[in-house]
Amino acid sequence: MGRIRVLSPELINQIAAGEVVERPASVVKELAENSVDAGATNIHVELSGGGLQLIRVIDDGVGMSPSEAVLALERHATSKLVDAAGLFQIFTKGFRGEALPAIASVSKFVLHTSEQDAAVGVRIEIDGGGPLRQVEAAAAHGTRIEVEDLFFNVPARRKFLKREQTELVHCEEAMIRLALAHPEVGFFLSHDGRALLAAPAAVEDPAERIAAALGAEVHPHLLAVAEARLGVKISGHVASPEFTQSNARGLYTFVNRRYIRDRGVNFAVQRAFQESLPPGRQPVAVLFIELDPSQVDVNVHPQKLEVRFADPRGVQEALIAGISKALKGAPWRQGDAAAVPDEAHYAQAVDRFLARAQTPAAFLETPPGLGLSFGQARPGINEAPPPGYFGRLRFIGGLAQRLWVCEAPGGTLVVIDPRSAMERVFLHQLRDTQPTLFSSTVELPQPELGLVTDGAEVLAELGLHVEPFGGNTVTVSSLPAMLEAADLRQLLIDLAPALDDLPKALSLIASHAAAAQVRPFTHEEAHALLKRLDDADFTACCLHPKVVVREVPLLELLAGTEN
Ligand code: ADP
Ligand code: MG
Repeated sequence: MGRIRVLSPELINQIAAGEVVERPASVVKELAENSVDAGATNIHVELSGGGLQLIRVIDDGVGMSPSEAVLALERHATSKLVDAAGLFQIFTKGFRGEALPAIASVSKFVLHTSEQDAAVGVRIEIDGGGPLRQVEAAAAHGTRIEVEDLFFNVPARRKFLKREQTELVHCEEAMIRLALAHPEVGFFLSHDGRALLAAPAAVEDPAERIAAALGAEVHPHLLAVAEARLGVKISGHVASPEFTQSNARGLYTFVNRRYIRDRGVNFAVQRAFQESLPPGRQPVAVLFIELDPSQVDVNVHPQKLEVRFADPRGVQEALIAGISKALKGAPWRQGDAAAVPDEAHYAQAVDRFLARAQTPAAFLETPPGLGLSFGQARPGINEAPPPGYFGRLRFIGGLAQRLWVCEAPGGTLVVIDPRSAMERVFLHQLRDTQPTLFSSTVELPQPELGLVTDGAEVLAELGLHVEPFGGNTVTVSSLPAMLEAADLRQLLIDLAPALDDLPKALSLIASHAAAAQVRPFTHEEAHALLKRLDDADFTACCLHPKVVVREVPLLELLAGTEN
């Protein structure tokens, strides 16, 4: 056995570096986090050679005085953690005080910093954890750190790194996580002079930050999440279910603004989406969990990705409630409540029906957000249901001839307005329907008579051939088959002022056709209609957009009664 020796500070730092500095991306993360902690408004990160040649981080934060800078490079020097009790009260990103010395022990390290109002700054150089060289330098109004030749003195580690491109992707990901967590700070990343991320501060609209970080194409699909219950606050955005990914990389979760990965959290997100996502697809979501720091232990993992919640279940429930609520904001589910005047009546009927189907207690205990409420449509956002949604519903029966009760796979009760459903199907069908021959005379009041005869050409395009017959009467010689049972007079009166607005005219026709069809349905007819609904165009304007009136996740109801 050898003699017991005290390890040299260099060696201690290199050992720490093994934990803190795994690859270039860890350096990017640690340094940019320090910049955030320093109150920077803009953080620029420049890389070359995948971060192996050079990582340069420039911020306009509070900076350091020369003596602070020297201290910061000593191991476990931190301005952020005071005592052990403080471990449970961590708000800032860093807290171990080991990043800077660890990085400096495995690279050629240069720190240039000054406090905001200082006339001069300091420049400190360290090569591979060797002696610190300090010189006076120009004021920096913030901090600038250069990390060159990472692991130059630890060939064994360097050997384990992947290709430049792979390391670069990891660096980018580290920046994206931080950028998502801090929309109030500007983040800029470039590699060999090429810009990879340009995310200017997005204080007003955090969705803009998501678009800057994850790609602009997600923006129109984002639904805001806001939920607060039992000391847990959930905020952020989810993409509506028509915008999905084949992998889980679009899921970003944060606890008190720190990026985390947690199985329970992932599970809750999956669960909230399970009914609406097509098989094999993964959601895109950026979710912030905020809770009292004493309710979460962030110090479980050297890379600080894992956390331990005091009440994991409470966090999961809040997530499920918040996401479910956001997903219900889809127009094809919610529509405009005012468009269906007798809504409240039927909603009550459904409630009674469900209360009977389930034990009443279970229904009453539905946490807010899980049972559904009526909301406002958000035009332009989340227009389309997930592919195959309606075809997978099992029709249970009609309610007061006005609503259909269906079951979605996995046990969600879905209440549908068949009239709106038909309207969607007809609207879609109208595009390529052949008029059928027909003969009927209709007497019209003025001014509709004039409008209809003037608009005969437009009507013909819509499949309605209308000609003056003399007096106040017109003949209708052909029409789309779906209108055979419709009230033609009322239809023409409604259409007359809308003939210069083709989408409006089309939705009027579809709506009249649908109204004429309301009657008891067989199971086969219901399923046929549901299947056709999957082909309908949910982005088209519709008079009664609310197809899904209510969705009640029965699983959640049952889960609520487990204990
Ligand atoms: P930690 O972040 O855990 O405190 P670090 O080694 O990352 O440990 O940093 C040590 C200290 O150096 C920090 O506590 C902070 O006071 C100071 N520091 C590091 N980076 C910056 C920066 N960009 N601007 C201002 N101060 C900084
Ligand atoms: Mg730090």
